[in-house]
Amino acid sequence: MNNSVSQALPKVLPLLIDGEWRASSSAHSIPVTNPATQDVLTNVPFATAEEIDAAVASAKEKFETWKSSSVPNRARIMLKYQALLKEHQEEIAELISQELGKTKEDAMGDVWRGIEVVEHAANIASMLMGETVTNVATKIDTYSHIHPVGVCVGITPFNFPAMIPLWMFPLAIACGNTFVLKPSEQTPITPTRLVELFEEAGAPKGLLQLVHGGQDQVNQLLDHPDTVAVSFVGSVPVAKHIYRRGTDNLKRVQAFAGAKNHMVVMPDAQKQQVINNIVGASVGAAGQRCMAISVVVLVGEAQQWKQDLVAAFDNIKPGPWQDEKSAFGPLVSEGSKQRVLKIIEDGKAEGAQCLLDGSDFTVAGYEKGNWVGPTIFADVTTDMQLYTTEIFGPVLLLVNADTLEDAIALINANPYGNGTSIFTASGAAARKYTAEIQVGQVGINVPIPVPLPFFSFTGWKNSFFGDHHAYGKQAVRFYTKTQTITSRWFEDDIATGPNMSINLR
Ligand code: NAD
Repeated sequence: MNNSVSQALPKVLPLLIDGEWRASSSAHSIPVTNPATQDVLTNVPFATAEEIDAAVASAKEKFETWKSSSVPNRARIMLKYQALLKEHQEEIAELISQELGKTKEDAMGDVWRGIEVVEHAANIASMLMGETVTNVATKIDTYSHIHPVGVCVGITPFNFPAMIPLWMFPLAIACGNTFVLKPSEQTPITPTRLVELFEEAGAPKGLLQLVHGGQDQVNQLLDHPDTVAVSFVGSVPVAKHIYRRGTDNLKRVQAFAGAKNHMVVMPDAQKQQVINNIVGASVGAAGQRCMAISVVVLVGEAQQWKQDLVAAFDNIKPGPWQDEKSAFGPLVSEGSKQRVLKIIEDGKAEGAQCLLDGSDFTVAGYEKGNWVGPTIFADVTTDMQLYTTEIFGPVLLLVNADTLEDAIALINANPYGNGTSIFTASGAAARKYTAEIQVGQVGINVPIPVPLPFFSFTGWKNSFFGDHHAYGKQAVRFYTKTQTITSRWFEDDIATGPNMSINLR
């Protein structure tokens, strides 16, 4: 596409309203920086109230025709979009690396997991099939139709700038809705490119609107009388706010929130396999993943593996995305780095044992980057701030448990329930764990159990507020409503011949 954000970043990112890329008239914008260098890449405007209104009005108008567009045609747009995303995967990954600092491999994965959702959306016809029962009473049939809901809104976080927008708008639009996307103001470049490619895939103008901003823009979308469904991914306090305000305005809301994910290590697990898995699952992406393992619960004899873990962590180093030896990148902002450093300092003061300290870490040639090295704390107790806070940095906590029952009780007492995993050679231990653990996504000898899009992303407790989870069948339910029709047939009214008609009353 000419003038795409990949070819040349504009001074200020544009909005997409009513099918037109336009400069915001807002006086308020903030810089988007490369977190490894602090170079300003572009600026992101905070859309004006008139611009948000115009985006919603256009989406509302477009919904009137799109809701009855042919389903195969919607699927074809998704097929074309999937092909374009694959073709541009490396280029999109590079945008992610520039604005977020992810390593190339990690950024490619971010795009790929989004592509898988688009593939799923291309299969929309099979997910929109209704149900039929004939003769619910004599000569009376009941059947159901699946209808779209209207103008949907997506509010996304900084840490997966490709995957998470792609969790939302392709499925919502394939279901027959129109969509207003408000991505994170910290990583808005990648979503802008995703929207450009959606247009290139042949999506009619007005289906997808892109607005930028923060709290005020989100609140306007939550209060707007013409938005009907809100998908949110972000931190717990904001998720609670979004859920409360959106439902108070009588909208559908699904709000995916923060996490504190535990991995249980049983003494019968394979030590080296466990250690290799913990490294990637905890400090990969600098720990900035909602499914990162942030607490490892060592059961019994496995407590003797601590020094091996420290040695493995000491071997990996963060660095810039262009260097393929980099295990992970910098934190997204200087503010995030200072927050994580303070949590590490406070953890030491709280009495946890810091086995590896990454707080004083720089990378040659990138001294201004938001670096924090791998950090491990042992002897962590559940009353410490280290344990109660979602750190969102490359910091791993080690907690001891005498038995599997103790480990399960500890995790069930934690307010979050996004993901967990157990490493064990025992089928009985794995079975007991899955049956008793109060967490939505469970891995057995798998460190980050993120389901593929034909299942749903299913966080529990404080990690999710709402009824229907992301992607999979549940998202289709979120973006649609069911109409049931009951009809009676009168056989004696049936006319025969070429103009045969069947009367329904
Ligand atoms: P965030 O909550 O700060 O921001 C998310 C979005 O909400 C952004 O678009 C932001 O502009 C908007 N926002 C921020 N403050 C707001 C307010 N007061 N009112 C209205 N809108 C507001 O989250 P983040 O820092 O961008 O992302 C990291 C968080 O997201 C972590 O807590 C992480 O666990 C969570 N996350 C969860 C999942 C999941 O699936 N459960 C996935 C990825 C990230």
